[in-house]
Amino acid sequence: MENLVDDCLFCKIIKGDVPSYTVFENDDVKAFLDISQVNPGHVLMIPKKHIVNLFDYTNEDAKKYLQYIPEIANAIKNAFPNVTGMNITTNNGEVAGQVVMHSHIHFIPRFEGDGLHLMTRNNADDYNEAKYTEVANKIKEQF
Ligand code: 5GP
Ligand code: ZN
Repeated sequence: MENLVDDCLFCKIIKGDVPSYTVFENDDVKAFLDISQVNPGHVLMIPKKHIVNLFDYTNEDAKKYLQYIPEIANAIKNAFPNVTGMNITTNNGEVAGQVVMHSHIHFIPRFEGDGLHLMTRNNADDYNEAKYTEVANKIKEQF
């Protein structure tokens, strides 16, 4: 298969050299159970091309690989009657918690009382209109 590298765990999973519990696969992507199962049904979706993380996606890559997110999310949700929500996340860069350097999207099914707490920090008290505007403008200027 083209665009895969030898020393990458997820490229090995794509090639079948490392086994995985595959739930969906086509020419573009593969989705399989995350070994850690943060909640039951925790799935990873990876592009069948070695791309390190979302910073390296072209718009074309995004259209090609990310189009499957809603379909996979719904399949997981429909598989478990108690799943009423889902965190769909991606860690980009070591500082953001990325451990495997082949782009992947986490699908973490959520159910009432699962006790998971993600992204709970709220700094709104430290912000005012000027500060929000300054931060927003810094980003806007990059497009
Ligand atoms: P990251 O921290 O890079 O966003 O996530 C990497 C994920 O890969 C982790 O959630 C971890 O549990 C998962 N993982 C690591 N090694 C394996 C493996 O060999 N097989 C599977 N299925 N998942 C793995
Ligand atoms: Zn890879």
